[in-house]
Amino acid sequence: MTDYLTKTDAGYDTERSGYNLSVEHRPEVVVPAASVDDVIAAVRYAGEHGLGVAVQATGHGPSRSADGQVLITTSRLDGITIDPAARTARIEAGVRGGALVRAAAEHGLAPLNGSSPEVGAVSYHLGGGLGILGRGLGWAVDHVRAIEIVTADASLLWVTATSHPDLFWAVVAKDSSASSPPSRSTCTRSPGSTAAACTSRPTPPNAP
Ligand SMILES: Cc1cc2nc3c(=O)[nH]c(=O)nc-3n(C[C@H](O)[C@H](O)[C@H](O)COP(=O)(O)OP(=O)(O)OC[C@H]3O[C@@H](n4cnc5c(N)ncnc54)[C@H](O)[C@@H]3O)c2cc1C
Repeated sequence: MTDYLTKTDAGYDTERSGYNLSVEHRPEVVVPAASVDDVIAAVRYAGEHGLGVAVQATGHGPSRSADGQVLITTSRLDGITIDPAARTARIEAGVRGGALVRAAAEHGLAPLNGSSPEVGAVSYHLGGGLGILGRGLGWAVDHVRAIEIVTADASLLWVTATSHPDLFWAVVAKDSSASSPPSRSTCTRSPGSTAAACTSRPTPPNAP
């Protein structure tokens, strides 16, 4: 792994700190990821050293501390590719909601964004994502088509409902009952996922 920060390095405190200061991370190592290869290297490093992996995009929603783990920060992964014909967006792991709205708007499209432009778009989607267009178009997670994931063994996978159905449903939804629709409220996230693709829809005429 070429570029990482430990507790004694300048920049460690800045890199580990997210927006929500109620959770104070003291990771063993912080990896400021700038590419998929950085994420793969970080996951591999964690495996080789018996460490857990945590991910931070913006730190708006940390649910638990990354103490003693390898913390991958994704804010530099801010690429957005809009396909206007397909009305889809491919977003990297550090993209924020506001940036996605602006990029989609250039094509007359709108994503199913939430209330804050500062929240990370990937975890917003994978956490369900109930936004201002939700009453008409539903949960954002239901529009996710594919997710590029770095798995725990540091493999890079392009995961769709048909290519890796079990993993896809584990990420976008977790269903405890085989006969009922997947429950969005209990969906899980996969450590180290680096990008997500989601549909973008035109703004309805009566949208706020
Ligand atoms: C001001 C504000 C407004 C909000 N408004 C809405 C709203 O309107 N609708 C709604 O549904 N929700 C809303 N939320 C909730 C928000 O969508 C979640 O808290 C979301 O998880 C924040 O994501 P983040 O990337 O910004 O935060 P982070 O703290 O960086 O990440 C949140 C979680 O996702 C994990 N994670 C981040 N990136 C990845 C990745 N690439 N791979 C794997 N795991 C990852 C992190 O480890 C962490 O557990 C709001 C939150 C805030 C603070």
